[in-house]
Amino acid sequence: MRLYDSATRTVRELPQRDPGRLGIYLCGPTVYGPPHLGHGRATLVYDLLRRYLRWTGVEVQLVSNITDIDDKILERAEREGRDASEIAQRCESVWWRAMDAIGVERPTDIPRATEWVEEMVTMIAVLVDDGRAYVTDDGVYLAVESVPDYGLLAHQRLDDMLAGGGEREVFGAEHKRHPADFALWKQAKPGEPAWPSPWGEGRPGWHTECVAMSLALLGEGFDLHCGGLDLQFPHHENERAQAVALGRDFAHHWMHHAFVVDRSGEKMSKSLGNFENLLDFVENHDPRSYRLILVQAGYRSPVSVDAEIAERAERALAGLDAFAHRSAELAPAAPDPDVVARFRERMDDDLDTPGAMAVVFDTVTRGNAAIDAADPSAAALAAAVRELTGVLGLELKGPATVPADVADRVAALDAARGGKDYATADAIRAELQAEGWLVETTKAGTTVRRA
Ligand SMILES: [Zn+2]
Repeated sequence: MRLYDSATRTVRELPQRDPGRLGIYLCGPTVYGPPHLGHGRATLVYDLLRRYLRWTGVEVQLVSNITDIDDKILERAEREGRDASEIAQRCESVWWRAMDAIGVERPTDIPRATEWVEEMVTMIAVLVDDGRAYVTDDGVYLAVESVPDYGLLAHQRLDDMLAGGGEREVFGAEHKRHPADFALWKQAKPGEPAWPSPWGEGRPGWHTECVAMSLALLGEGFDLHCGGLDLQFPHHENERAQAVALGRDFAHHWMHHAFVVDRSGEKMSKSLGNFENLLDFVENHDPRSYRLILVQAGYRSPVSVDAEIAERAERALAGLDAFAHRSAELAPAAPDPDVVARFRERMDDDLDTPGAMAVVFDTVTRGNAAIDAADPSAAALAAAVRELTGVLGLELKGPATVPADVADRVAALDAARGGKDYATADAIRAELQAEGWLVETTKAGTTVRRA
């Protein structure tokens, strides 16, 4: 499989440190509020990658952390007069509820930052001893000038970065020796949750968590590190800088997905105030529609999600469901190998899910035509559609997906025909057609599917 690598800016073969196995680290959520549509994308893209790799026979270890200690969690805890741990636990349970709703499988490992503080302290101590990190009044900082290729992921040299300015993380604390230095350890303020360290009670910086947990759980030189484009710099740059400073082999490939944007092109995020709650979305739409929208967008393209776009996806799903319904009676068959090969070719080409989905839709069209013509190829085409939609995590609904009121009218249509009341039968048929249903009447009775 070939994937775009953000570090080299090329599409290249996805490495496998151990053939047949793949270790992936995905930066997980900071649990301080409800997940929005962008969070859904941040997990769904890698759920697609993981399901696909597993289907091709690769054993995937996906590690994705929970940041359960952070300024934003502390701010909310303070505002609500609760413990930070209570806020984090509550938000994490909402997170998993949303992930379950969109069919995202649980990661293989889910390390929580607060459970790995000792490892982080050990790591920071090595950096301090080596003179690559220094202690100030408010914490411990990494000296980025001690990292020879700092800026590799930002695709900017340290000097240019400073000339450009504007990065919140780059500027800030006045205790820093260099504006781009970043906190590995933050001294606790009174009343904040704190852990012991040689530099006083405090808590780890966000960039430190992921390095400690990814190296501990996946080992050195793991295959793939991923997250949203907004993490490429500074978060991933700073994770990598620590690994380099420690002399440890870090991720061999970097994958970043594009944002969910509103129609004007603005990123949807909690901090921008235009986010849509993921659970609100799945309560109002077929949860599969969110997955289909992202599949059809491709992970490197920005995507918009609103009611109109969701309804369009729902119509496409109804067409797939109708095909599953129609083809349910066909004899069992192996998936058409030509279709499977075309699908794999698309997926192996930088996770081209829009191309792969086009193969599925094309197969549905051909399958419907084959069923119409009573052509024996229909069974293998239908088996391919079932198999490949399954790989994408789009579980099709066979019988019972036709809404009850439609099923009732189909029954009434057949009853009218049975009673030779053709005027009524025709009126019902016209009504269903006007609502977008393809109505087919054979000796066996009437069936409907989405046009
Ligand atoms: Zn991270």
